[in-house]
Amino acid sequence: MARAAVLTGGCQCGAVRYGLHARPEEASFCHCRMCQRATGGAFAALACLRNADLEWTKGAPTLFESSSIAKRGFCPSCGTPLTFAYNTGGHINVTIGSLDDPEGESPSIHYGMESKRSWLKLCDGWEEQQTGDCHDERAREIKSMTVRQDQTR
Ligand SMILES: [Zn+2]
Ligand SMILES: [Zn+2]
Repeated sequence: MARAAVLTGGCQCGAVRYGLHARPEEASFCHCRMCQRATGGAFAALACLRNADLEWTKGAPTLFESSSIAKRGFCPSCGTPLTFAYNTGGHINVTIGSLDDPEGESPSIHYGMESKRSWLKLCDGWEEQQTGDCHDERAREIKSMTVRQDQTR
């Protein structure tokens, strides 16, 4: 690596490893149905940084195009969800749980609140947003996106 990583992470089996060259700018929980399905959990815990500050140091994720506007990266060997990124904007999210030290990246916002499970009680006082509550260009993209997630339920 040309530059030292300030944070490192990887998948459960160790086939895919990454380094971050800057601390994430923001961290969030996303409760949307796509993040629930993609993680198999109640929400995704994501830390956002510039594309240029993420370096794959071992292996590489397989990408699933979950919609016409975003891709999700996961380990091809063990399936660990690793990334979520819109196709535009120059930023990428890594899953907080895939960091070697997840403790330092505290989320401050709940996104995708329209799909938050009713049995999940929030008491953190963080900002809450619905999918599409974002800057104009992204909101327009989200409104017109084609969802590639299985729509059975
Ligand atoms: Zn793996
Ligand atoms: Zn989401």
